[in-house]
Amino acid sequence: MTVEDIIDFSSFELDARLTRILLRNNITKPTLIQEKAIPLALAGKDLLAKAKTGSGKTLAYLLPILQRLLTVSKAGVRTLILVPTKELARQVAETTTSYLHYAPKELCCLNLAGEESLQLQKSMLAVHPSVLISTPSRLLPHLDSKALLLDSLDFFVVDEADLVLSFGYTQDLERIVQEFLPKTVQTFLMSATLTGEMEKLKSLVMRNPVILKLQEAEEEDQNLLQQYVIRCEQEDKFILMYVVLKLKLLKGKLLVFANDVERCFRLKLFLEQFGIKTCLLNPELPLQSRHHIVDEFNRGVYDIIIASDTESSAVVPKKGKKHGKTDKEGGVARGVDFRHVDVVVNFDLPQRVDSYVHRVGRTARGGNTGTALSFVSSTCDETILRAIGADQEQRGSQIIPHEFDLKQIDGFRYRCSDALRAVTKVAIHTARLQAAKDEIVKSEKLKTFFEERPKDLGLLRHDNSSGVIKARPHLKHVPEYLLASEDADKRAKLDPLPQAERNPKQQKSRRGKSFIKKRRDPLKSIKKK
Ligand code: ADP
Ligand code: MG
Repeated sequence: MTVEDIIDFSSFELDARLTRILLRNNITKPTLIQEKAIPLALAGKDLLAKAKTGSGKTLAYLLPILQRLLTVSKAGVRTLILVPTKELARQVAETTTSYLHYAPKELCCLNLAGEESLQLQKSMLAVHPSVLISTPSRLLPHLDSKALLLDSLDFFVVDEADLVLSFGYTQDLERIVQEFLPKTVQTFLMSATLTGEMEKLKSLVMRNPVILKLQEAEEEDQNLLQQYVIRCEQEDKFILMYVVLKLKLLKGKLLVFANDVERCFRLKLFLEQFGIKTCLLNPELPLQSRHHIVDEFNRGVYDIIIASDTESSAVVPKKGKKHGKTDKEGGVARGVDFRHVDVVVNFDLPQRVDSYVHRVGRTARGGNTGTALSFVSSTCDETILRAIGADQEQRGSQIIPHEFDLKQIDGFRYRCSDALRAVTKVAIHTARLQAAKDEIVKSEKLKTFFEERPKDLGLLRHDNSSGVIKARPHLKHVPEYLLASEDADKRAKLDPLPQAERNPKQQKSRRGKSFIKKRRDPLKSIKKK
């Protein structure tokens, strides 16, 4: 069978128990990486695959693995999938479990990157799951204690391998490979970028791999991602965000990145005053709460999610330090499959080229279109922007400056400064603490503790309201006088960004809800150029 012959998944002659799920998920045509990787993987080759984020790498390795698991029976742990973050572990575990739906009971998947105690995980390992998913640091204690043996392993996967390495897991990986992995496993390294470190890993774990380096041009043939940059002062970012949202210059579901937790909260509290509801993917909260938020965003409960992909300086001491690399694993947004993101906004430009690649890779996934918009403020931003731009050009993409005449938003400056002033350090601190307290109140584990100490619970619920920003309903409305510009040409500058049309599948998969409450939209009067 040659690659050219393949038109849909039926060409791979996969087990019917897998094709049923593919059909159920409306997945009929393999993506480029799947088209190339699946036949090679089925033929027993080791693979090093570089393909951009959102290109469908998970199924590219998972389908051939599950095919073998379903058709050749054997006891013991047969597949080990290592990932950089807990979130990604959860998503890969969910996908694996869903594709094992029609499989016999003994084929099951266990995620070791969850928050269960090592002791509990030990008993979970006793049932010999056939697929194990973990971060390197969560796996090693089980290998060291001999609670887990990898003697019967057939497949070893490092997903988002570049991130696994950049998170400082190189030594853990080396130990896993050299001390615990049998010599005959089939190995897949999946990555969005190929770094020098990846070369080292390749020679460590693979003997004669096939290297699939998808040319960006091949991948970008449909040019699904449109990228823009707006230059502005640091303070103007808030006004710009407000204008972009309130005037619906961007359509659909938004994933907004700020560079630290404090800024995430600042932005959330700022927008809240205008009645713009957002949810925050807060790295200070336990994994389960973060899952919940991502799930809710994916299900369409929220249309704007604010996230940070850099480490936080927590006001609330982190629990779980005992597991070593908790901070890194918690590094929230990378590799996570936010579904149906129409726009990624870099409220703050990331300070690394690969972060930009991973961020914008959250949109235009699985054949859907997407837009990336970056706010660029300072001279140091310009340096990194040049590097990001050069990298994108190498990938056959372009970042287009959006000539947004900032004078046009001057009218909004007063109300925005007012709202921004209300978001004091105290208000942010209060909100961060409140978020942590809300989690404590919700926590199942602590329920019994508080049942015995109702007074403490009362204290948590009610204290420290001094920093809470008062509701300001008047800010929710955009007054007519701010919209009525005398000069029609100037008004045209507030045209929506030219986003690509969503394809019909995308339309169907969203709940089609607008993030601004339905009421007469005064901006309908703003005409296009
Ligand atoms: P990557 O690991 O390359 O970043 P994922 O494997 O997470 O990408 O896939 C991104 C999204 O695309 C997921 O929501 C997945 O369900 C979807 N997807 C994967 N393969 C296909 C396909 N062949 N057709 C349509 N959607 C797909
Ligand atoms: Mg992936």
